[in-house]
Amino acid sequence: MTRYVGRLAPSPTGALHLGNVRTFMIAWLRARSQGGKVIFRMEDLDHPKDKPGAAAQAVKDLRWLGFDWDEEYVQSERKAVYREALEALRATGLVYPCVCSRRDVESAQSAPHAGEQLYYPGTCRGRFRTWQEAVEFKHRVTETQRDKPCWRFRVPENTVVSFDDAFAGRYEQNVPKTLGDFPLARDEFGAGYTLACTVDDLLMGVTEVVRGDDLLPATPAQILLAQALRLCDSALRYCHVPLVVGKDGKRLAKRHGDTRIASYREQGKTPEEILGFLAASCGWAAKGEAVSLADLVPRFDLTTIPHAPFMI
Ligand code: GLU
Repeated sequence: MTRYVGRLAPSPTGALHLGNVRTFMIAWLRARSQGGKVIFRMEDLDHPKDKPGAAAQAVKDLRWLGFDWDEEYVQSERKAVYREALEALRATGLVYPCVCSRRDVESAQSAPHAGEQLYYPGTCRGRFRTWQEAVEFKHRVTETQRDKPCWRFRVPENTVVSFDDAFAGRYEQNVPKTLGDFPLARDEFGAGYTLACTVDDLLMGVTEVVRGDDLLPATPAQILLAQALRLCDSALRYCHVPLVVGKDGKRLAKRHGDTRIASYREQGKTPEEILGFLAASCGWAAKGEAVSLADLVPRFDLTTIPHAPFMI
């Protein structure tokens, strides 16, 4: 049997808070409870949204909480790998240049959390023969050198992707109807989230992706891309878990109060108190019990996690 390989993949777009940590705790325990390996991958390709210092702070916070990992990667140091993957896709004709709006093009860069995905009707399909043609068109129309085209993945007609998620169950998406040709890269050789994440999960030998269920709708595109890339033949599994939400039911954000790990540490809270609070929400600890990650390894049970978001 192949060894389980999981990953923690934060984006340095803000400080680590209770929501990120609950998901990472589940991902880490899912791997460790079956003797698996954990990969840490900093997803720092989203320059407009990335915050200086956030990557180092996330590592510090996770280490303080007791997380460890076996391998560590930084996406901004792996651009040559994504470029190679993009070139392989270009050679197969599965991608094409697109000159549509800045907003469309920018969506190539970030992880599209629920509600952030844009439908693309295929306007630029078959429109340009080369990247250069698209660049020239864009410059004529916008008169600015900065405004670049992007690469899109050509989704075959009638493509319905379905998979069995280890937590969320069966998930099905008609990709051409809901998403359309999705963006891969914001400039000729750059890589956005979907491309970088998919290439890395395949090349790093990840066997299961555990992450927040706001990324469920982003998964079929990654599956299609993985099939097109054929970087390895092992089927990647997925496990999408509910998020931590504020009283308004929305994904945890600043307006819900300060839930940053760094501020709990400054207030004198211990890692065990924070983990105990989150573990109790998963059915692995009593209310008010303080527990370490090591204590939780034998208690881990995916089936006791409630299917509703954890409201704090
Ligand atoms: N780095 C992404 C984010 O923090 C998550 C990527 C993933 O788990 O696939 O939004």
